Amino acid sequence: MPYIIEGKTGNWELIVGLEVHCQIISESKVFSGASAKFGGEQNTQVSLIDAGFPGMLPVLNKKCIEQSVKTGLGLNAVINKYSRFDRKNYFYADLPQGYQISQLYHPIVGEGFIEVTTDDGTRKIRVERLHLEQDAGKSIHDMSPDKSFIDLNRCGVGLMEIVSKPDIHSPDEAGAYLRQLRAIVRALGTCDGNMDEGSMRCDANISVRKVGETALRNRVEVKNVNSVRFVMQAIDIEAHRQIEVYENGGTIAQETRLFDPVNEETRPMRSKENANDYRYFPDPDLLPVILTDEYIESIRASMPELPEAKKKRYQSELGLPEYDARILTMDGDVSAYFELAAHGRDAKKVANWVMGDLFGYLNKHGLTILESPISAAHLGGLVDLIQNGTISSKIAKEVFEEMTVSGKSADVIVDEKGLKQVSDTSAIEKMISEIIAANPDKVAEIKAGKDKLKGWFVGQIMKASGGKVNPALANQILEKKLAE
Ligand code: MN
Repeated sequence: MPYIIEGKTGNWELIVGLEVHCQIISESKVFSGASAKFGGEQNTQVSLIDAGFPGMLPVLNKKCIEQSVKTGLGLNAVINKYSRFDRKNYFYADLPQGYQISQLYHPIVGEGFIEVTTDDGTRKIRVERLHLEQDAGKSIHDMSPDKSFIDLNRCGVGLMEIVSKPDIHSPDEAGAYLRQLRAIVRALGTCDGNMDEGSMRCDANISVRKVGETALRNRVEVKNVNSVRFVMQAIDIEAHRQIEVYENGGTIAQETRLFDPVNEETRPMRSKENANDYRYFPDPDLLPVILTDEYIESIRASMPELPEAKKKRYQSELGLPEYDARILTMDGDVSAYFELAAHGRDAKKVANWVMGDLFGYLNKHGLTILESPISAAHLGGLVDLIQNGTISSKIAKEVFEEMTVSGKSADVIVDEKGLKQVSDTSAIEKMISEIIAANPDKVAEIKAGKDKLKGWFVGQIMKASGGKVNPALANQILEKKLAE
């Protein structure tokens, strides 16, 4: 189902391209030896190069090249064996050089794609390019009423800017693209993908047009949105705003806007500079980057299994439904946990516990899978106890709760609390005989044809045993007794 917005004057479609800045995981910055670590005390990770001192020469960090190539391969993209750096000139207080070193004409990575799955199915969203550039510092405007402060720690940290084609046609697709991109860079170890810390930042280019139109209308760039949910929300809100303007006879200017999640609106920031204003030119301080086939192949050989491939393996080898496979492969820590827990067990049963009770618990307590009080081995052990009939699924929920509190294994808890399912037939028979004897009226009703009442008896048995009787077994014995 294509995503359509119904307006007063007809149906509209949405066209979105995303530009995502991913901070590269590396020890030092892209053109200096200063630490690229997040969260250090202000202005303690700044070299003279980052501070833009005259005469300082940038030195390219090989690690950033490796990370960019690795990411490019993860995006199924062409790796350009020749790339080059350009200066993008603009003045901003947190950019002391007076220009950003970027790659306009010859990016290190060319076209590729990301496979994205939404409720509407799987689509390839094309990637236009990935270029390498340096980050700016950070201006801080909220520490003083009449002063602004600058932290240059981030200045010069390596960024991969990943630009998609305008292939995205719904907020859902934008969300799925971002989550998939984040899963890929995390699996590769090239970016930590933490949007709330700013290590992954998204600009969305949004336009709308009437269904059936072929030309593109003016696009608006919504800058620096810092969560997947906000990107989806910003796209939705901006699309509706544009449609309203058009339908009231107005025009949309090509401009840059900011998303305000509190007031749920986008606001103009500045009119879009023409790219020529930046006066890009090749950076004379840096040589072109020439990569060999051997180098690219050696990186390809070191690539880990990516989320999409892992998802397909979970479907084909473990027989998981697409949805389960997708959810369990979005995060490498989750898939590692799941694989450990599912090893040698019914994968679907384990997936149900991970995605149901475990995720529920972790979400409720704001924990990551690495902070789970239940280890993968212990969760697997719990599933074993259900599978071999030691406990019922109902008791298993109780054991799970207890496991989150004590961190003990399922069998220890079952032993300590005497939760073993009663499978001793004679004990169950005795229990059933007593219930039958105490309720002759109900037995008569069943014999008169009121079959539904059997459920009531099973309920009584479960109650009398504290849930420890296997319901299937109880049913079987009840039938036998009633027939006597
Ligand atoms: Mn950029």
